[in-house]
Amino acid sequence: MKRFRNKEAHQNLINHEVSLVWLRRDLRIEDHAAFYHALKNEEQVLPLFIFDSRILDELEDKDDARVNFIISGLKTLKEKLESLGSSLLVWHGDPLDFFKNHNPKSVYTNHDYEPYARDRDQGIAAILEKKNIPFYTFKDQVIFEKDEVLKDDGNPYTVFTPYSRKWKSKLATDFYNPYDVLANQAHLVQVVPLPFPVIEELGFESTAIQFPERKVSLTTIKSYKEKRNFPAINGTTRLSVHLRFGTISIRKLVQIALEQKSESWLNELIWRDFYAMILWHFPHVQEKAFKPGYDYIKWRNNEDEFKAWCEGTTGYPIVDAGMRELNNTGFMHNRVRMVTASFLVKHLLIDWRWGEAYFARKLLDFDLASNNGGWQWAAGSGCDAAPYFRVFNPELQTQKFDKDLKYIRKWVPEFNSDGYLGPIVNHKEARQRALDAFKEALAK
Ligand code: FAD
Repeated sequence: MKRFRNKEAHQNLINHEVSLVWLRRDLRIEDHAAFYHALKNEEQVLPLFIFDSRILDELEDKDDARVNFIISGLKTLKEKLESLGSSLLVWHGDPLDFFKNHNPKSVYTNHDYEPYARDRDQGIAAILEKKNIPFYTFKDQVIFEKDEVLKDDGNPYTVFTPYSRKWKSKLATDFYNPYDVLANQAHLVQVVPLPFPVIEELGFESTAIQFPERKVSLTTIKSYKEKRNFPAINGTTRLSVHLRFGTISIRKLVQIALEQKSESWLNELIWRDFYAMILWHFPHVQEKAFKPGYDYIKWRNNEDEFKAWCEGTTGYPIVDAGMRELNNTGFMHNRVRMVTASFLVKHLLIDWRWGEAYFARKLLDFDLASNNGGWQWAAGSGCDAAPYFRVFNPELQTQKFDKDLKYIRKWVPEFNSDGYLGPIVNHKEARQRALDAFKEALAK
């Protein structure tokens, strides 16, 4: 367990008159459910962020871009809080230890639906309950959570289209009206600026990766439907990392989608709610196929081929371009995510969990629910997945979505030269091999 230099400051600041707002994947003050309720109900509110050592210790890369992103997001938030005469308390360690050792008046936080977070929060609720410290939690990162959008028979949806229809029919302004957090800003604890870690104190290093701007481009949203599928153009918003860490509010984005009448973009925001709901109701998807038959597939799991896929040297230019974009920027265009994922699972017959883990390591916007949903969709094993016999043809995908080869040339400049190796597998043979393996597994 590590703490920053000012242990004293922590102990003195947190007492039975101070309530904490514990920030996790919601690194902002604007339109923030827990912040709003804490400031409305309490006299003295102090924001807290914990660098959770149980999460950080699992990260493989010292220059992990997400850690860098969190630091940058927290710095912006801290400046904002300091402009209001308050500050941000930052701690590094196991959150359970933090709450064992501190006794605030109450704790406010927003829901997190991932299995690890659910366990952690249950543990913290138990610790706080023993000490009679109220623990208040709120919905914030999605529009509809848990059981809020169910089928008429009370069961969760497992197919997107009817889910999205019900989602839209239930959407009233109350669900996306912004929280006026600053109306009660006078209740923020007034304090001198508190210490903030440098990245090395957390055991990490700076990254060279640039982060997408926290800016909503109305032009992009207006032309989203026509441009969203072409990786060579900036046709999507690149807001995923901001949604992931809550540096932007989902309510604000839904409001914009409605104002701009962009049904297609709204649908993407609904996919995000859908996958969060699936993970909540079916947490087994974290380890297993949503559809059990797919757990019988005999994967080839060839390590050299996996390495070639990770490095972007499969000899399939669209796949290699995607993987190189991912490795260099922490982002990959959605169309190419589908192509690379399908290629790994079908052409190479490598377990989708290997690909999921690699994306989890590299994606700036890595989100367990959406990543798992995307991978199980590509593998055919997911709740509302592509049928197993749909094997993306990388060549046809290129003709359709990168016909001028702009995206490919950007990331695979040696394409079409002697320096570019031939395809790692033959498309036709690999396709047939995949169909046979999937068929065999599903017959069981
Ligand atoms: P836009 O197209 O502008 O969409 C706006 C927002 O809607 C996105 O920022 C995102 O929050 C949400 N969204 C869009 N498409 C999807 C989708 N299919 N599923 C869920 N939410 C969606 N998205 C993640 O946020 N994190 C992941 O870890 C992730 N892993 C994926 C893995 C695979 C194999 C696939 C096929 C897709 C994955 N996606 C993931 C979904 C999607 O690719 C990204 O959300 C999108 O590319 C982000 O770019 P954008 O912000 O420009 O999105």
